[in-house]
Amino acid sequence: RGGEPAKEIPFAKPNSLTKVYAVASGKGGVGKSSITVNLAVAMATSGLKVGVVDADIYGHSVPRMLGVTGTPTKVEDMIMPPSAHDVKVISVGMFTPGNTPVVWRGPMLHRALQQFLADVYWGDLDVLLMDLPPGTGDIAISVAQLLPSAEILVVTTPQQAAAEVAERAGAIAAQTHQQVAGVIENMSYLPCPHCGEHTEIFGSGGGEQVAEALTTTLGARVPMLGQVPIDVRLREGGDNGQPLVLTDPDALAAKELRTIADKL
Ligand code: ADP
Repeated sequence: RGGEPAKEIPFAKPNSLTKVYAVASGKGGVGKSSITVNLAVAMATSGLKVGVVDADIYGHSVPRMLGVTGTPTKVEDMIMPPSAHDVKVISVGMFTPGNTPVVWRGPMLHRALQQFLADVYWGDLDVLLMDLPPGTGDIAISVAQLLPSAEILVVTTPQQAAAEVAERAGAIAAQTHQQVAGVIENMSYLPCPHCGEHTEIFGSGGGEQVAEALTTTLGARVPMLGQVPIDVRLREGGDNGQPLVLTDPDALAAKELRTIADKL
């Protein structure tokens, strides 16, 4: 279908009421996908219509974390996304057979993202969350081109080294003229299950540091949205497709994630 003109992206229309957030991180393993999934479910349980685009081509893990079992279906010329916990999801993983690693190059990624946004039947969404690959790669630039109004959410750990690369991922917004909605610090501390004492496994201050640096770089206040603690149940929930905000809403991490979702 090479010569066909690309379809219009509904979220890119000036009168679109959908808030789009691109969730970014400097490096992998900081919990970007876990945060995306829990925020999505928290928003859905508060009555919002939510969709997630899993654009993390290298580590597409959103369907597993959300417990999506369905697959996309085709109705006329639209792709119907499967859903779980009232969240509609589309993932690069749904279009690669088995666990075949994705080796697409820039232009193909751009095309895939364009399709995820334009050819998928999302309906009227209040919020669309996009889980980006870590770093400042092609996808981040494609998002900026396809959806200039998308705001960036930066996920980091408190660790110095992670914060420095997260800063760079957020600073791309200065070049693309996008807004950074805020910084989320994940794995901020481990609360002792017996006495409640906090152990700062990955140090402290990374989130604050990224928020301050981006505020300076962008010349606009970038807030620190919250600090999510380490919780074994959050990891287990990701492995089982049962997000913590649903299974253990009273857990410290779940409460923090809800507070962050309410701010967005
Ligand atoms: P990323 O998307 O940044 O690569 P993931 O969301 O896949 O990161 O998280 C990496 C690993 O860390 C996963 O196994 C996930 O379950 C776990 N994890 C993420 N955040 C937390 C947390 N706050 N507490 C415990 N485990 C976490």
